[in-house]
Amino acid sequence: MLKIEGYENSSSANMIKKLKFISHLYRYKLQGLLSLKRSDIMSVINAYYREDFIKIAKNEVAVILPHCLINDKCPARFSKTDGILCNSCNLCGCGDIRETALSRNYQFYITPSVGFTKRLITRKNLRGVIGVACDYEIEKGIRAENISNNGLAVERRKIKTQGLRLNVYDCVNNTVEWNKIKELL
Ligand code: SF4
Repeated sequence: MLKIEGYENSSSANMIKKLKFISHLYRYKLQGLLSLKRSDIMSVINAYYREDFIKIAKNEVAVILPHCLINDKCPARFSKTDGILCNSCNLCGCGDIRETALSRNYQFYITPSVGFTKRLITRKNLRGVIGVACDYEIEKGIRAENISNNGLAVERRKIKTQGLRLNVYDCVNNTVEWNKIKELL
C-alpha cells in the first residue's frame, strides 16, 4: 500500500501537498489496472520533487540516459562501472546533453539497464537524478511502490528525480524530446 512518509513532522499545508501527491500515484496505478489512458505522472513527480531537487549540489546529481537512445553506429566503449562512455560524437542527441550536463557540473551516464542504474546511484553517492524512462519502467516503479513523497527508493537512499518519458516503448533507436531534458538541467 502506498504510504505517506514523514507525516509526523508535517504542517497541514505540507500534509495536503503530500496527500495530493500520493493520490496522483494511486490514480495512475488505478488507470493502469483499468486500462484507462494514464495521466502525465512524470510532470506530477517533477513538480513535487522540484523544490528539494534544486537544493542538491549539482555534483551530487547525474543525468542518466537509457541505452535505447544511442545511435546504431555508436563508437562508445563500455565501462563496467560507468556504463556507455559517450564521447559526444553527435551521431545521436546524447552527446549534446552530455556536453551541457558536464558544463553545468552534473555527472553524466548512459546506462544499459535499470539494475545498472540503481548500482550507479549507490556507487556514485547520488542524491538526485535527471532521467529518461519508458512507460513500462515508470509503471513498474510506481506499482512496486519505489516512489514515495520522500523520493525514489534505491537501496536505503531516497533520490529526488526529474524525469522525462521516452517517445515510444522500444529498446532500439528510441527518441525523446531532447530540449525538454535541457530544460530540466
Ligand atoms: S553521441 Fe555519444 S552515445 Fe551518441 S552515438 Fe555518439 S558516442 Fe554514442
